[in-house]
Amino acid sequence: MTAAAAYPLSLDLRGKRAVVVGGGPVAARRAAGLVAAGAAVEVISPWVAEDLQDLLADGRVAWHQREYLVGDLVDPDPAWLVHTATGDRDVDAAVAAHADAARVWCVRADDASASSAWTPAVARGPESGPAAGVTVAVTAGGDPRRAVAVRDAVAAALDSGTLPVRRVRHTSSGTSTREGGSTPAVGRVALVGGGPGADDLITVRGRSLLAAADVVVADRLGPRGLLATLAADVEVVDVGKTAGNHPVGQDRINELLVEHALAGRNVVRLKGGDPFVLGRGGEEALHCAAHGVPVEVVPGVTSAVSVPAAAGIPVTHRGITASFVVASAHEGSEVMTAALKDAPADATLVLLMGVSRLADTAAGLVRAGRPADTPVALVESGWTAAQRTTVTTLARAAQDAEAAGVRPPAIVVVGDVVRVREQLGDLHG
Ligand code: SAH
Repeated sequence: MTAAAAYPLSLDLRGKRAVVVGGGPVAARRAAGLVAAGAAVEVISPWVAEDLQDLLADGRVAWHQREYLVGDLVDPDPAWLVHTATGDRDVDAAVAAHADAARVWCVRADDASASSAWTPAVARGPESGPAAGVTVAVTAGGDPRRAVAVRDAVAAALDSGTLPVRRVRHTSSGTSTREGGSTPAVGRVALVGGGPGADDLITVRGRSLLAAADVVVADRLGPRGLLATLAADVEVVDVGKTAGNHPVGQDRINELLVEHALAGRNVVRLKGGDPFVLGRGGEEALHCAAHGVPVEVVPGVTSAVSVPAAAGIPVTHRGITASFVVASAHEGSEVMTAALKDAPADATLVLLMGVSRLADTAAGLVRAGRPADTPVALVESGWTAAQRTTVTTLARAAQDAEAAGVRPPAIVVVGDVVRVREQLGDLHG
């Protein structure tokens, strides 16, 4: 039998008689696999190894404590499948011959080439993840180690979220003629932090949920390149602001998430950075919860920490400061300096949404006691090809930003850690 002629097949063995001849570790593995598939498993062997004893103790396997006998494969009922792993070539050969005569598929542990059936190396999508239900079986021309190596690579790919594992369902709006107008099951919403912009700074979990999404509601910031990897029938709703276009309002975004989920779709809300850092993710989660929509959050790499890093600025650094404060500069310097009141005087300040009100912010910080010569870095479009850093001071920040033409999105870093950049330069690879 050549490998090319092998015929792959999946069997539903639930409740079907399956016989394992032998009681050693290989037989134990075979029996465990059959039990997992729901077969009615019988083991024939005078003795059994420890692993098998566990299965026997649970009552999931029947044990005939004796040598194999002619007729075991057909009595009392014909078996559907037999594994023989006795360690004795003659016995395995006899079992295989009897199996053949009785038209029972036989897997021989001692000699695959003399078998009528083989068990593949199997990779399964994790039960709780987007790839649940996906099974990949690998055979490799009678070389089990090679099959296992390929299987391991497939399993890693299933875990990585890069495979198109999305369930393709038929929704009621299609040609379905299902009667009674039954409502589809409610879908789920995942608030996924996409990281600061590079496509590969999303988490593995976020990536795999994205690969399984029916609908993706995307922001302007974050890993937008990943949208191009989605299948053509995945609905992408772009709620971000683009030039000349108004962004979709937060209320409407909340509604969209709930509407799609209630229609039975799996929704990924793809956000820049971390969903719960100045990203209104909390509001979206509350809205879903209030409407009975299951919601989960997948944290992301926040721009507050990662964009300074990309510019060679650690937000904490031994000998400079052991703390940092993240704040929105959007509400104006009064609100911001009030929030900073109790922070250590040397704490690094990381300001988001800080470009438009930079003059006001910088002046407010000086009024609140920060020295006018405190170093400031303005890091635009972190983790993209357009990343640019302007280094200045609180006193000069507004005029230097204006002269350089600094544009959002940008992170404003205030503190002596900015000087570390002099030695490190850009670090974004
Ligand atoms: N939830 C996001 C922040 C959203 S608020 C996060 O955790 O990163 C939007 C602000 O984030 C922008 O105005 C800007 O200040 C900052 N920002 C996000 N991505 C950025 C990037 N790639 N480069 C510079 N600033 C960024």
